[in-house]
Amino acid sequence: MRLSVKAPAKINLSLDVLHKRPDGYHEVEMVMTTIDLADRIELVDLPEDKITILSHNRFVPDDGRNLAYQAAQLLKKRFNIKKGVAITIDKVIPVAAGLAGGSSDAAATLKGLNELWGLGLSMDELADLGAEIGSDVSFCVYGGTALASGRGEKIRHLPSPPNCWVILAKPTIGVSTADVYKNLDVKNLKHPDTEAMIKALENESYHGICDHLSNVLESVTLNMYPEVAHIKEQMERFGADSVLMSGSGPTVYGLVQYESRVHRIYNGLRGFCDQVFAVRMLGE
Ligand code: ATP
Repeated sequence: MRLSVKAPAKINLSLDVLHKRPDGYHEVEMVMTTIDLADRIELVDLPEDKITILSHNRFVPDDGRNLAYQAAQLLKKRFNIKKGVAITIDKVIPVAAGLAGGSSDAAATLKGLNELWGLGLSMDELADLGAEIGSDVSFCVYGGTALASGRGEKIRHLPSPPNCWVILAKPTIGVSTADVYKNLDVKNLKHPDTEAMIKALENESYHGICDHLSNVLESVTLNMYPEVAHIKEQMERFGADSVLMSGSGPTVYGLVQYESRVHRIYNGLRGFCDQVFAVRMLGE
């Protein structure tokens, strides 16, 4: 049997770091939403006890380091499954970009194998399993829009933003999330107004959302990589309504309400940036 599952990227509408915990993780508060930029995961049942990964992308590991592999392995161990699976990842989401591509692949694998192997797990059970793989996997299991807290695994569902365009630009650098956190001065942060973002979503206020986009990691990455700051400036100059870096970067996105502006911004960015996408919000 074979199954194909979509694995959408997320963007951070806000990202706050509250403090560093004794276990080494940071306590965070993130408002995240899924966008219509997705990998596709194909799962094929194997009679023998093995997991294989194929991706045609040299930045994606094809062994136990791959989060989709880890998802399959976790289900096999937990439910004592003796058969295997061949996982093909059609990679569309830029890698190490702040868009949770790997986490979304893991979430899609959990959901797909739940069906393929007839495990009958609920979304909440899948999200709990996801948290064992990585902090963003629980959110990716549900998709939509949510406040993620704790180390990212505690999910409170929120209304999705009114539909609009999301233009994403990723410079040709990979950013190490660990390095960004290392350079973060947790005691001296200008914290996002997360409550105001939640209110804006509840009020379906596009302008409220634009006014409260905020990410405490942004200034750290912008200082480390001037090209990210340049993309942000250019996206603002070309006329995006509001611009923010997603996750630990380096992807910068702009929200745009009117389609008439999308082409100008997209083409302007394509002039100096290889990876540019214009997509829609996914909603629920
Ligand atoms: P996040 O936003 O959750 O911090 P990210 O978008 O910054 O994630 P990913 O694209 O998930 O980063 O990739 C980070 C690293 O994870 C990559 O450098 C890669 O080595 C590894 N990785 C493991 N599995 C995958 C996968 N399925 N797709 C992409 N990268 C993967």
